[in-house]
Amino acid sequence: MYKLIDGKQISTAIKDELKEEIKRDGIKATLAVIQVGNDPASSVYVGNKKKACEYIGIGSRSYELGEDTTEAELLDLIDRLNADDEITGILTQLPVPKHIDEKKIINRISPSKDVDGFHPENVGNLCIGQSGFVSCTPAGIMELLKRSGIDIEGKRCVVIGRSNIVGKPMALLLLAANGTVTVCHSRTKDLKQICKEADILVAAVGRPKMITSEYIKEGAVVIDVGIHRMDNGKLCGDVDFDDVKDHTSYITPVPGGVGPMTIAMLMVNCVFAARQKQK
Ligand code: NDP
Repeated sequence: MYKLIDGKQISTAIKDELKEEIKRDGIKATLAVIQVGNDPASSVYVGNKKKACEYIGIGSRSYELGEDTTEAELLDLIDRLNADDEITGILTQLPVPKHIDEKKIINRISPSKDVDGFHPENVGNLCIGQSGFVSCTPAGIMELLKRSGIDIEGKRCVVIGRSNIVGKPMALLLLAANGTVTVCHSRTKDLKQICKEADILVAAVGRPKMITSEYIKEGAVVIDVGIHRMDNGKLCGDVDFDDVKDHTSYITPVPGGVGPMTIAMLMVNCVFAARQKQK
């Protein structure tokens, strides 16, 4: 019988711990959230981030910029926020409109306020095992594993996906926890066979229900990062949950698995940023 990894419950526990910590230690933090354009999905994410700030007891300032905002204007705003002493964390909701170079935006945010953990300096720190901000979704997955009592050391870990925000940092975190890690992508040959060797399988492919029971070793831990809206309006992941679940020991649902963890870990990063500043 498989166990469901309850991301909703774990993320609430993390936020409650942060709330206590902020109250106890008098931590002062303000997150600046920048949104360019009015993509509905982005607006929902931004709204949830502001709500989470309020819940744990930190400030948030939002900057809702028009779709026609130029790259120079956005960079100028980031420069001002970098210099603003009250702001302890900055994030730009991605994706930004096509006329803006996402890399330039990521690189402009001060590494000490980069609560998304996307700046090359923070990615480099993760790579060489130094302290810094870690991308929220993979950091959240590590918390899910830890708080579910799942050991990583010596385990065969397979990550499907090599994006800068999920797949690559995920692989680095599993490696740092002494997993034996394989990263797969769209050019990988024999994907099924490789996945079938995994004790821990992380699917961050961006393809609805692609991972069926044929990819799963009996008793594997399966983490589903994907989020897709189906024609019937319901959400599903990259994993075909109903087909896979009985072959796993632990599995994350969609919704209610990895999703809520991303925002909880953003809050962890916001508190970390404020603490670093106080030091
Ligand atoms: P990307 O599209 O950036 O990356 C997808 C990766 O999957 C790429 O590395 C790609 O390979 C690989 N891939 C695509 N097709 C295949 C295939 N047929 N076989 C093997 N590998 C394949 O996506 P993200 O990493 O940003 O996100 C992945 C999923 O996670 C999405 O569904 C996204 O919505 C979701 N997500 C959820 C979050 C949450 O909070 N729960 C947060 C972030 C993302 P290649 O590099 O060769 O193109």
